[in-house]
Amino acid sequence: MLKSPKLMLSAAVVLGALCVVSCDKAENIPNESGTQGMLKLGKQLENPYSVENMKQAWNNLQENNSSYRMMGDGISTTHLYLKFKPQNEDELNLLQQDSTLNLYTYPLDHEILGEGDYYQDPETPDSLPTYQYCAVPVDKVLPGGVSYEVLAELFIPDEDPDDDEGQRFASEEVTDALVDEALRITDNLEPEETHENQRMARKWRPAGNVKVWDDEMDDYIGVHGAKVRARRWFTTRTGITNSAGNYSCSGKFRRKANYSIKWERYHFSIRSGTIGQALYNGPKKKGNWDLKIKNGKQQYYALIFQAAHFYYYGHRMGLTSPPRNSWWKRQLKIAARAKSGYSSYAKARTIYGGADISIQAYGNSSDGVFGTTIHELAHAAHRELDINAYSHLVYNAYTYPCIATRGDCMDEDLGPTANNTRRLMETWPKTVEIVLTLDWYRNKCEKQNYDYHKMNWQKVKIEERPHYTSAGYDMIDDVNQRDDHNDDSYPQDQVEGYTIKQLESALKGAKSWEEWRENIKTMYYNPTEEHLNELFANWSD
Ligand SMILES: [Zn+2]
Repeated sequence: MLKSPKLMLSAAVVLGALCVVSCDKAENIPNESGTQGMLKLGKQLENPYSVENMKQAWNNLQENNSSYRMMGDGISTTHLYLKFKPQNEDELNLLQQDSTLNLYTYPLDHEILGEGDYYQDPETPDSLPTYQYCAVPVDKVLPGGVSYEVLAELFIPDEDPDDDEGQRFASEEVTDALVDEALRITDNLEPEETHENQRMARKWRPAGNVKVWDDEMDDYIGVHGAKVRARRWFTTRTGITNSAGNYSCSGKFRRKANYSIKWERYHFSIRSGTIGQALYNGPKKKGNWDLKIKNGKQQYYALIFQAAHFYYYGHRMGLTSPPRNSWWKRQLKIAARAKSGYSSYAKARTIYGGADISIQAYGNSSDGVFGTTIHELAHAAHRELDINAYSHLVYNAYTYPCIATRGDCMDEDLGPTANNTRRLMETWPKTVEIVLTLDWYRNKCEKQNYDYHKMNWQKVKIEERPHYTSAGYDMIDDVNQRDDHNDDSYPQDQVEGYTIKQLESALKGAKSWEEWRENIKTMYYNPTEEHLNELFANWSD
């Protein structure tokens, strides 16, 4: 029972959080491939880079060859190995705002035994962010307000002359000898390694290629913008894939490194379901890592990543960006649920530590996963464009009808106000979904004859989708589907030639279906604008 206004308000917040902007329903669930689940850690290893062990290694070297000389100040702490303990999403965000931190969700001094697509410390409940591990230069200013533990004081001599800027600790030969000795005394040399063959070994640069299977293309296509990390102990070299999927990391190693991909960029991050950061834990090896992703959750992550990267970092036809990470805003979180159902965008959900976006398109066609991700990001960008108008729309389209029906607000009998506002709220992202997915496949992937679902939504009858209408795309394209199908159950569309950027600008201040239409008329001249009333009137409240 909702008795007092205060109760009513809190119920509104809760319901709003739960049911704001649920979107199109998806079908099909693919078979799980066996490589998913939580990353498996092995035993903790003795740390060769601790100041103590490095001093010991230096003493050993001196005993064998007193001609070795240091050039710098000797062996003292250069880096700290830290374990951050964020208590909530806001604290995690403080860390994520610092792009110089190479954060890992798992400790850096443990063996990694199995594959996995996330890691959550067994000590931390699923509802809290897991610990974040990293190594930082000793003089680095840390983000304030997040508690942490110094796990070790490290001495990391500069092993890669590539990025040599300041004074080196010692010559390359002496540095290599020191690291080798530290690995030996901590029992971290691999069986096939000896001092001699490693010292002779050439340094290598982590590089390779990342591709994902796309069933529209019937081929693997390059994953653009993925950040590949190659880590050896506390040192991480990173590379970003180009549009062909090729990457080359920022430095070199002498020995094997752990390859991985954290499915995030500065502005957005993909979660494995509702729990942790989505990962691809790659091999520990020397030499290139070429990855071809097909099936299962990793393909799902890669496709969602492609779409989010395209929207955030591509030209996006001049459209407003979805919310960006900055000192007053958090990184947008996308929960990749291994489910098929209603995807949604709900800013309010983030109050409870949830993700901004929940994608439930597991098992969909590749372009369906791509388009669904674009759709949800378009909702988030709509909020950025005009938070006032957007909030009005959300209240009338979702929050109020969901309270009035006690949550049974997904059916079509919503009443005129909800129908009207929900039609505007959903037609806009449907438009962006069609246009950006077409741009991706036709222009980026060069499949010129590609059409999005249901012939770019031109094969959708009026009754079929009263909220997710084709009206936005109808103002852009030159197809009149009623003529094409010779059937009055399709919308009458004699409008053409608007740009998606114009349609977005006209959303500013639009709190109803008709206000969007009137803004379009007022703001732009278009020879077909006399048909706008007819187009918008295909759908009634
Ligand atoms: Zn939607």
